[in-house]
Amino acid sequence: MVVVGGGPAGSSAAISLARAGRDVVLVDRARFPRDKCCGDGLTAAALRMLEELGLEPGRVASWQHVDDIWVRSPSGRTVRFPLPRGQGTYAAIARRADLDAALLDVARDAGVDVRDSHALTDARDAGAAVELDVDGLGTLRAAYAIGADGAWSPLRKALGAGEARYLGDWHAFRQYFSGVSDTARDIWVWFEPDVLPGYAWSFPLPGGRANVGFGIVREEDTPVGHMKQLWPDILARPQIRDVLGPAATPEAPHRAWPIPARVDRVRLAAGRALFVGDAAAATDPMTGEGIAQALVTGRLAAEAILRSGSVGPAAVARDYEAGVRRELVADHRMSALLTHATRHRKGVRTAIRVAGASDWTRRNFARWLFEDYPRAAIVTPRRWRRGVFTGPGAYRAA
Ligand SMILES: Cc1cc2nc3c(=O)[nH]c(=O)nc-3n(C[C@H](O)[C@H](O)[C@H](O)COP(=O)(O)OP(=O)(O)OC[C@H]3O[C@@H](n4cnc5c(N)ncnc54)[C@H](O)[C@@H]3O)c2cc1C
Repeated sequence: MVVVGGGPAGSSAAISLARAGRDVVLVDRARFPRDKCCGDGLTAAALRMLEELGLEPGRVASWQHVDDIWVRSPSGRTVRFPLPRGQGTYAAIARRADLDAALLDVARDAGVDVRDSHALTDARDAGAAVELDVDGLGTLRAAYAIGADGAWSPLRKALGAGEARYLGDWHAFRQYFSGVSDTARDIWVWFEPDVLPGYAWSFPLPGGRANVGFGIVREEDTPVGHMKQLWPDILARPQIRDVLGPAATPEAPHRAWPIPARVDRVRLAAGRALFVGDAAAATDPMTGEGIAQALVTGRLAAEAILRSGSVGPAAVARDYEAGVRRELVADHRMSALLTHATRHRKGVRTAIRVAGASDWTRRNFARWLFEDYPRAAIVTPRRWRRGVFTGPGAYRAA
């Protein structure tokens, strides 16, 4: 098996295959640890999967447990949403440079042959195998390949499964700051009227640092230049400046990256290749979060290969598509629906007012927002089981 891409989707797939006894080579064009433009936020769903894969938070230098989320509505109302205490971790922040490298170490320990600094340059279907040309490694022949190579997925393009002129459904900016105030030790989310249904965030990191950014839904005519102008303007707004504090200093220029969020509409397979994570456009269309979805699709692709690989590529594709439909598509559609409600100030204002109405609604909104249970769990009774709405967080023993 060849896995292209060493982010969370690639590591999850590679670890699952290697633990089932398959020979797995994972190639990535970057040398790890490498940065990935991201908010670095880990939801409860992502944390539970990371725990299952065997990732130890102690091995991720920038790991930051979070207890409280502050949300500011477009009208200026600010509400604190507390996550449960003493029952494990429901939200954490970890720089992707650290997290992804630590996850690759878990993959190496599972027996994956990790080759970073080797880029995929081309690929083709060769009947009984898929052939992949990789810089510095020549042509690899694999029974199955997994495209975990991110939003621009070169493997998808090489196999003719790319979407012409597709630039992502969201576009997001991120910048690291140091010297932030104590107030920025919690998660902050600002719904600014001019970026709805997008939002700005500040996610805390150890040592007085924070990951600050904003994302907007990309319409066909959204010019990225407009976002570039908006960024310094957003940072200068009093509600954001007050949280970051007077000593907050950017560590480096901002970075920007697309967020693909249409897993219910893209091709998930091409011949002997399956696409996972951002390469499968699997992010949540309401929040733009994609780490949990990357980990889940990686696992589902590996399971489909393990279950149906000996039957043939068509059976593997069917198996994988059914898994994605079962585990992701209902939540994806629920998020897409809610995104319509948050397009306008009134929708967001109402949502925050309802969510902040009582201690109970505040606690439960925080858990729902941070994917403690599937987004659409309430309308998919087939997934109800004991504890689904009240389960402990991840890393409880720690
Ligand atoms: C600004 C921003 C903020 C975000 N914030 C959050 C957040 O807080 N929480 C969250 O859950 N999600 C967030 N997301 C989404 C999240 O970053 C992605 O969904 C997630 O990284 C997807 O993981 P992946 O493994 O599919 O892809 P990636 O993490 O993008 O990994 C793809 C890998 O493929 C490699 N690759 C690319 N081309 C080649 C090639 N030719 N050959 C070999 N390797 C190749 C790359 O080097 C890379 O390592 C955010 C996204 C953005 C843009």
